[in-house]
Amino acid sequence: MSDGRKAACIIGWPAAHSRSPLIHNYWIKQHGLDAEYRREEVAPDRFADFVKNLRDHGYVGANVTVPHKEAALALTAPDERARAVGAANTLWYDDGTLRSTNTDVEGFLANLDSTTPGWDRGLENAVVLGAGGAARAVIFALLAREVQRVYVINRTVERAQALQKQFGARVKPAKWDEITGLLGGAGLLVNTTTLGMVGQPPLEINLRCPASLVVADLVYDPLVTKMLASARDRGLRTADGLGMLLHQAVRGFQLWFGVKPEVTSELRALIEADLRDKAPEKKATEKKPQEKPAKLRGGGNKKRG
Ligand code: NAP
Repeated sequence: MSDGRKAACIIGWPAAHSRSPLIHNYWIKQHGLDAEYRREEVAPDRFADFVKNLRDHGYVGANVTVPHKEAALALTAPDERARAVGAANTLWYDDGTLRSTNTDVEGFLANLDSTTPGWDRGLENAVVLGAGGAARAVIFALLAREVQRVYVINRTVERAQALQKQFGARVKPAKWDEITGLLGGAGLLVNTTTLGMVGQPPLEINLRCPASLVVADLVYDPLVTKMLASARDRGLRTADGLGMLLHQAVRGFQLWFGVKPEVTSELRALIEADLRDKAPEKKATEKKPQEKPAKLRGGGNKKRG
């Protein structure tokens, strides 16, 4: 960049699917900033070089998406959150040092705080489905909010056990067939698996639970997953994946451009419309969903970060 305009970008391989440019350019326009947010398609073998020279490429910072989030952690000075999650998704310069964080933690919390206020008041037990990168962010967030027990159910049990090792005894690996009993005493259920996402098997779950259970899904495509729809049918309070995606973007924008942006209903509508617009194209190009619904076992593992 030579025009002095501040710029940030999303670095991915591919990066075309990312909604980050829509989100950040909406805020740039809303705040009347002389700034720009771009996409950078960077292959894995060029990533280290690109990040080390981020400033020379004209950027004050960046978001990082698949498959670079783990590499970004190693190439930057990560904070406690990024280290706990094992991945960095937001980079910025601080006095010449390229720092990184993982904003999924605060995105998850801010979304629940704004859509289901009071969700953590006296919350003793939470049930988390999945044990990947997103689960680590959610567990870190729940432990920070003093949730006493976080039950983790995952297809690959060893990954849930590894989370107990990482985060301590408040994390409790559990089995799928224990879910009904666990939901009976839980205040929060969170899906962090890819199940229910377009092109993936659905998440089959029987929500036999108290009316006070709050249900959150990190999947945002479709906007209303089967799990969220059945929770709403039962009158339960819900928080969706799009809300988390929007809230996690706030910190990066503030770090790069010095203004704390707001997650408005207008912004949400913009991204919803984009998700709807891309739906027919997705149907035409994506692989058929697998035949059998999955109950946290079997099947593939394709996702978008
Ligand atoms: P990840 O690290 O690849 O983990 C995927 C998880 O899904 C693992 O627990 C995996 O179980 C499970 N899984 C995948 N296929 C399965 C199947 N067929 N049956 C049962 N379990 C299956 O992915 P991630 O980064 O954690 O992302 C997970 C989801 O969260 C994605 O949909 C992603 O888009 C979403 N996400 C959303 C936001 C947001 O802002 N809304 C932010 C981050 C992530 P195994 O361990 O057994 O493989």
